[in-house]
Amino acid sequence: KLYNQVQDLKGSIRVYCRVRPFLSGQSSGMSTVDHIEDGNITINTASKHGKGCKSFSFNKIFGPLATQAEVFSDMQPLIRSVLDGYNVCIFAYGQTGSGKTYTMTGPKDLTDKNQGVNYRALGDLFLLAEQRKDTFRYNVAVQMIEIYNEQNCPSLIVDTLEIRNSSQTGLNVPDANIIPVSSTCDVIDLMYLGQRNRAVGATALNDRSSRSHSCLTVHVQGRDLTSGAILRGCMHLVDLAGSERVNKSEVTGDRLIEAKHINKSLSALGDVIASLAQKNPHVPYRNSKLTQLLQDSLGGQAKTLMFVHISPEPDALGETISTLKFAERVA
Ligand code: ADP
Ligand code: MG
Repeated sequence: KLYNQVQDLKGSIRVYCRVRPFLSGQSSGMSTVDHIEDGNITINTASKHGKGCKSFSFNKIFGPLATQAEVFSDMQPLIRSVLDGYNVCIFAYGQTGSGKTYTMTGPKDLTDKNQGVNYRALGDLFLLAEQRKDTFRYNVAVQMIEIYNEQNCPSLIVDTLEIRNSSQTGLNVPDANIIPVSSTCDVIDLMYLGQRNRAVGATALNDRSSRSHSCLTVHVQGRDLTSGAILRGCMHLVDLAGSERVNKSEVTGDRLIEAKHINKSLSALGDVIASLAQKNPHVPYRNSKLTQLLQDSLGGQAKTLMFVHISPEPDALGETISTLKFAERVA
């Protein structure tokens, strides 16, 4: 049954959108989101210059009340297809503060209930591997990569961390219990903490994590116990750098260099996904380190989910529209 679901998604590019709720302590003014209906979202573009509305359609839209569990459950078939040997990329895109890290990792006060996709995906993959233990033997490796100032910095990979199951023979399924799952989660916890600790400034906009792409990669190797065939799958869960455009007259030095790199890699990513969506024979992977790094997992049989995030505040309207336009272009 799962296999059939996976076939449906084969080679496809999907685009999802999530609207963050107003944050507590914030005066909850009018949301720029006028309404959401099925796959359509209508933004109220009214300003002092006049009234207006603009609609966009995507494969799926999550409103401000959507829970982490609901979001994950929609992505679950895609994530599970890694164990069938597919390559999967999931990107969280949006301006700083729109909820990318909330979706992918969770909030600072992490609980079982508000855990993001990273935790749930790993937990679920181990659970499914355990359920398939009579037919498959899986080996899982996890890697965290941070991409910062791709062209400027010779070491593309700032932080790499790899965990493998301790047994040489791969995931020893008969012995597999909850421990591999929780140890994996513990490692992500550390990475998460590490990321928070690297924050260089007090405000969210100064947090370096918002200016680098952070990628959790899960490599899976499975052996079919009947035929001996080996299948390999790979999943990249990418929390992208903030997509906000900086005002060139206001930033200088390092900030301007960072902004240029971010702009370059996000537009290169948009170009790659748009040309895949249009089945364009030439896919411009080589225009950024990010797309080069993920080349094997973008296109071909691979499955891509572009998950864009928007903030509801009127102040964010300009960025909201530009995020939705980016998403529309790759849909
Ligand atoms: P980004 O990673 O895009 O910069 P964050 O994920 O850090 O944004 O979100 C900004 C703030 O909003 C954080 O305090 C986060 O916990 C909160 N937040 C984001 N999305 C949600 C949501 N869906 N529900 C509740 N709080 C959210
Ligand atoms: Mg973030």
